Amino acid sequence: MVGRRPAYPGAVPYSTVLLDLDHTLLDSDASESAAFEHTMRFAGVADPAELFDTYRRINLAMWAQVEAGAMSADDVRVLRFEEFNRVSRIDVDPHAMAEVFVAALGANGDLYPGAREMLEEIRVVATLGLVTNGISEVQRARVARLGLDRYFHAIVVSSEEATAKPGSAIFDIAFDRLGSPDRSSAVMVGDSLSSDMAGGYGYGIATCWYNPSGRVADTEFRIDHVVAGFDEIADIVRN
Ligand SMILES: [Mg+2]
Repeated sequence: MVGRRPAYPGAVPYSTVLLDLDHTLLDSDASESAAFEHTMRFAGVADPAELFDTYRRINLAMWAQVEAGAMSADDVRVLRFEEFNRVSRIDVDPHAMAEVFVAALGANGDLYPGAREMLEEIRVVATLGLVTNGISEVQRARVARLGLDRYFHAIVVSSEEATAKPGSAIFDIAFDRLGSPDRSSAVMVGDSLSSDMAGGYGYGIATCWYNPSGRVADTEFRIDHVVAGFDEIADIVRN
């Protein structure tokens, strides 16, 4: 299932690189736990750590619905706290909690070590697009805070487009904004099998699975590259 695209001399194999943000470039776990703690303090919860798993379970299930096209990223914003409050018996306005949480998600979380160096390296040889399933306010705040706009020719956030990975429409938007590059020289890089790898494969472009923790791929479809670190991503784009 895992193959390596043959290199050809004189040209970079991938002149267009689409990258995912959460859990690929950005330490979203750190962002999420900081934002959760902040929100629980706002809601007057004494022991936030006790409720974090409940939140994560609800949140993951809702993002799976976004991938399935059954829910929008903007719906997740408030609905996850409506459900969380119901399950955890918390009587605080979920809209207010969502506002606090979204602001804190945007304000917290750094790039993984080595991610920025990789971007610096590949932007010289390829055109980069950021394609993220997320809430506009969160992702735009992160992009601005981390200075990511300098690396990307196009930034596509699912909640702004009313479509999400793995569907092909969000890839159409990215390709359109990048000037309709050749699909045969494009690669989608991301940590998610269900959104990044399935999306790239479905769109007919190469795929590169960022898999630092050594998970086993349970997909029926081909993945072109599997990498555990950012050096390998730069190598694949260059060679
Ligand atoms: Mg991701």
